[in-house]
Amino acid sequence: MSFQNPVFIPGPTNIPEALRKACDMPTIDHRSPLFGHILHPAREGVRRVIKSEGAEVFIFPATGTGGWETALTNCLSAGDRVLAARNGMFSQRWIDMCQRQGLDVHVVEAGWGEGIPADRYEDILRADTAHEIKAVLATHNETATGVRSDIAAVRAALDAAGHPALLFVDGVSSVGSMDFRFDEWGVDVAVTGSQKGFMLPPGLAITAFSEKAMDATRSADLPRTFFDVHDMAQGYAANAYPYTPAVGLMNGLNEACKMLLDEGLETVFARHHRTAQGVRSAVDAWGLELCAVRPELYSDTVSAIRTPEGFDAGRIVSHAADVYGVALGTGLGEVAGKVFRIGHLGSLTDVMALSGLATVEMCMADLGLGIRLGSGVAAAQEYYRAGAGGTDRKAA
Ligand SMILES: *Cc1c(COP(=O)(O)O)cnc(C)c1O
Repeated sequence: MSFQNPVFIPGPTNIPEALRKACDMPTIDHRSPLFGHILHPAREGVRRVIKSEGAEVFIFPATGTGGWETALTNCLSAGDRVLAARNGMFSQRWIDMCQRQGLDVHVVEAGWGEGIPADRYEDILRADTAHEIKAVLATHNETATGVRSDIAAVRAALDAAGHPALLFVDGVSSVGSMDFRFDEWGVDVAVTGSQKGFMLPPGLAITAFSEKAMDATRSADLPRTFFDVHDMAQGYAANAYPYTPAVGLMNGLNEACKMLLDEGLETVFARHHRTAQGVRSAVDAWGLELCAVRPELYSDTVSAIRTPEGFDAGRIVSHAADVYGVALGTGLGEVAGKVFRIGHLGSLTDVMALSGLATVEMCMADLGLGIRLGSGVAAAQEYYRAGAGGTDRKAA
């Protein structure tokens, strides 16, 4: 495997040099005011990236999965009912966690390639006149299938039903890359990690709580220790943690937020959209289909691409790694062997994206899939050429 090539997995993403340097720092006393100069700006940066004025941001040495557990254990009690849709491996894993936490999960089956069915959520919430459902779970961007769901529509479903359930949103592969509106969507807990849109190494679970979610923490009785937000809040009040923080990563997070905000969030989102559109042009030129079934569901951070019936998509991924030293994403769960994935989030330029598309073409040609070398690359080039997809082509 070459360390020179960019990765095309949907996280961990490529790390900009400035962020690698920001993570590499001498030891400081994490109970000194100095740490406060990293901690508080990082929390404020996250708040701005998720477009919130007042969310309480809690950052744990963990990963996105720890963020899910933070949301569940701090806001819910044993046996509480939650509503969740299953449309891919990540939504599935969150459901599994709920079940292991002893929650009563009402699972809405959506196809792998479909988004969250907000209309079915609304019917279920309307029927729940006793308000037994305490939380609604929504995976904003299902990384396994390359599907972006409409969180505003989920909020509208809750409002239309006049239902008071909390709204938990998994933004692990969307925050920092795709528009995420914590306040406007009435999100109660948002969850992400350091290694996707924030372009950092893995190691942080990043969560944000609304006031309503904070209120819920006061009566929730699921056991929690490491992920207890009140212990964390007490630590923050003293510029510290209840344990040892990942100081270097926190410093990196502070820099990552600055980088995203300096570029401008809307510019960052437009850049991701443009890169993704180029990749989709290539997929189209190859005569292949995305797993996402409708254009409004297409993710701007990852494309899951279906291979022809009878061809194991995993062969493309292993061939790319073995022969060309390039990492692509494999198919997970129900779509294992049926799709391969191109991650196109984080620090990625159009030119880097073209190299990934060229690699995929070489792999498909090597493996006997009848594709013409250069066909997808040319389609993406047409899209990326000056004057085509958008303006600023220099990625972070
Ligand atoms: C990556 C990812 C996760 C899991 O995050 P980890 O950091 O691996 O624990 C959860 N949800 C989504 C949508 C993801 O893309």
